[in-house]
Amino acid sequence: QRSRPYNFSAGPGALPEELLLHVAAQLADFEGTGLSIMEMSHRDEGGPVQRTIQQATSTVRDILEVPASHAIIWQQGGAHGQFAAVPLNLLGDKRSADFVDTGVWSRKAMSEASKYCETRVVASSEASGHSEIPAVSSWDLSDDSAYVHICANDTIYGLEFLEDPDVGDRLLVADFTSTLLSRRVAFSRYVAVYCSSGKNLGPAGVCLVVVRRDLLGRARPDTPCILDWGASANTAPVPSLVNTPPVFSIYMCLEVMRRLQEEWGAGGGSALAALESRAEERARRVYEEVDGSGGFYVNSVAWPYRSRTTVCFTFGADSGLVREWNGSITATVEPTELEAQFAAESRARGMLQLGGHPAFGGVRVCLYNAVPDAAVDELLRFMREFREAHS
Ligand code: PMP
Repeated sequence: QRSRPYNFSAGPGALPEELLLHVAAQLADFEGTGLSIMEMSHRDEGGPVQRTIQQATSTVRDILEVPASHAIIWQQGGAHGQFAAVPLNLLGDKRSADFVDTGVWSRKAMSEASKYCETRVVASSEASGHSEIPAVSSWDLSDDSAYVHICANDTIYGLEFLEDPDVGDRLLVADFTSTLLSRRVAFSRYVAVYCSSGKNLGPAGVCLVVVRRDLLGRARPDTPCILDWGASANTAPVPSLVNTPPVFSIYMCLEVMRRLQEEWGAGGGSALAALESRAEERARRVYEEVDGSGGFYVNSVAWPYRSRTTVCFTFGADSGLVREWNGSITATVEPTELEAQFAAESRARGMLQLGGHPAFGGVRVCLYNAVPDAAVDELLRFMREFREAHS
């Protein structure tokens, strides 16, 4: 008998039940102080808030094996804030930036950056219907651009960089919002990696930014202070005290990472290696169910780019998934009959949020770390039964 439904949400994503209960017990009285962490000052030198930020930052360095060359900061405004922060911090006197288009989120990043510079699409998965990421050797990179931007996982089309591209001396930046904590990351290939919380990292409300130190302090003069990476990195005694930080979100990220280390191994990248094979194995099981369904379920993404965190599929090849996108993510599409039935029947079996994105349709199975293995087993049983009942 399970107490909670299985949550396959695309974000904010599932959080472990035991962690929620642990935090609930701490909420009104943080470590015997008589106060909640949410009602304490971030200016209290060495106090609980600064200690929490310090521990969260060092746990990120430890669990992700972030090299000393890179600083770790926490900013607000989610990934959308970083869509602007990246050009503001990196353009310098350059006038353009290069983007690899792998679907919705890389285009959102590009659209925000276009307020500050010329944006060039150097490669695109569009011609393949978002089923393949063009090889780095084919990217039309410009010597005049300040940086190259990729989105590690497009959560709409389920298209993921499972390896970190090598762009030589060019400055590579990546949106790791839905990939972080699902695989090891070669930080030496990136000058900046950002990850909005709300997926594997914790609840929404804060954005983790890992940035190469030699690129700090280059922000344009008109950069809002809260998006200036150098300003955030240089506050003392802990980073990210430019303004009142989102204390509760950072505290939750710390609790999530601590729990991952307890469960999967502390230090030296051991948790991440274990999480990576788990993510690989769980996604593979769902893709095999899709591929073995005789065309009832369809995923057209090629294996080397199939997302491990957002497994997307449609019913038959003539799908409900919108592939020609008009730029709006607030529009809604009517689910097809099978999509609506799949969502309703899975909900009735205690599996929640198995629909597609409201603006794109299809089905998305999000396998973030807090989704239990038993949820994947139950989903596979359900997918089999649903196919038999409806084909
Ligand atoms: N990038 C990716 C890959 C995402 O999946 C999302 C959110 N779903 C975002 C960026 C946007 O994040 P935020 O809402 O925190 O700005």
